[in-house]
Amino acid sequence: TKHLLARVATHEQLGAWLSVNADAAVAQAQAADARRAAGEQGALLGVPIAHKDIFVTQDLPTTAGSKMLEGYLSPFDATVVRKLAEAGTVTLGKLNCDEFAMGSSNENSAYKPAKNPWDTSRVPGGSSGGSAVAVAAREVPAATGTDTGGSIRQPASFSGITGIKPTYGVCSRYGMIAFASSLDQAGPLARSAEDCALLLSAMSGFDERDATSAQRPPQDFHAAMLQARDGATAAQPLKGLRIGLPKEFFPAALAADVNGAVRAALAELEKLGATLVDVSLPRTELSIPVYYIIAPAEASSNLSRFDGVRFGHRSAVPFDPSDEKKRTALDQMYAHSRGEGFGPEVKRRIMIGTYVLSHGYYDAYYLQAQKLRRMIADDFQACFRQCDVIAGPVAPTVAWKLGDKGDDPVASYLADIFTLPASLAGLPGMSLPAGFGEGGMPVGLQLIGNYFQEGTLLHAAHAFQ
Ligand code: GLN
Repeated sequence: TKHLLARVATHEQLGAWLSVNADAAVAQAQAADARRAAGEQGALLGVPIAHKDIFVTQDLPTTAGSKMLEGYLSPFDATVVRKLAEAGTVTLGKLNCDEFAMGSSNENSAYKPAKNPWDTSRVPGGSSGGSAVAVAAREVPAATGTDTGGSIRQPASFSGITGIKPTYGVCSRYGMIAFASSLDQAGPLARSAEDCALLLSAMSGFDERDATSAQRPPQDFHAAMLQARDGATAAQPLKGLRIGLPKEFFPAALAADVNGAVRAALAELEKLGATLVDVSLPRTELSIPVYYIIAPAEASSNLSRFDGVRFGHRSAVPFDPSDEKKRTALDQMYAHSRGEGFGPEVKRRIMIGTYVLSHGYYDAYYLQAQKLRRMIADDFQACFRQCDVIAGPVAPTVAWKLGDKGDDPVASYLADIFTLPASLAGLPGMSLPAGFGEGGMPVGLQLIGNYFQEGTLLHAAHAFQ
């Protein structure tokens, strides 16, 4: 713990951290030592980790990367945080992220951008950018993240590490600051599938405080990862595994370096015994408009609680009786508080969400998007009749330069094309390092499984690693 705290201090320029509590971490490490001395065992006992700053914590401030929540201290710990603490992990601090997890580069953080340790002129991906940087720069062996439309998988891919978003409902959302509730899922980012499996086992499980928590017995993902497949041999541990390649995940526009690294990884999986089959996810492109209607719609509702009264920053601007819009003191206070507290991307999403939910537009946008969402999920089920796992790239390019997509939100939305489908369907997806592309930057391989098939993903990833 002390070694890593020193490393956190020397790597400050990477911008991964929003808060660090060294004294509390050392005390937790000593408590873990005492538990171990008393005979307790456990893979995570005494392991230093850190949490994306979107999980509320009692001991450290929680900002969700927003000025709206600057200095906010939660009266309770998120379930994921509590469970990991019970497993004996040591929390070094909270990690940078895009504001309210809205973004793909961590540049939407209200505090600072995080920088990719492989090339500090590039983004680490987002929204769990700080989590990916902290793991990739060896500041912590593992970190938590959240994934609404790719925010675990894409930063893992850009930063050369492994991350898994489990099936919707596997990890409790209690205490995870809500972005789009029907999509938000927690998961780990770590150096390997094995480390992810250990974290996920501790983080997951039914929680009566989350109405969408999956009612299933606790799962040992590490055991599932090690579980040998029927007919597997030592040389061919993946014998019989059918990997589906959706043709829409390999479009002509896919960057050649990404395509090359992903194809090379697929060839390795074939050597391990897997067979590759061609499949189709015909609505892949539609996942972008569908997601960017549903996610902002839910966000506009979830973010209404930040009004300067119940939650969030309260503006100091005094009442203006000569207000040209003739707003009441209360309305002025709301407008100033939200205007000052939220950043531009969050405001954009609130506007989009409010628009698509409003009378007269609801049927044309929101309802239509919901219908398509179901069809996208059905397309996956058709694929899973032909294969066990779906594979493809995580993102169409390697990590881009800081500022490159800064003033073009749509360019950033389009880069989410390969992660959004699994999110909309609620399916588990993971990213593992496949190789390197342009500029020596990491390229991730994405594996998507059927509902609750995290074990199959982890098994394949572990065999590959
Ligand atoms: N990039 C996507 C967005 O901006 C996904 C973010 C996420 O998964 N939290 O909404």
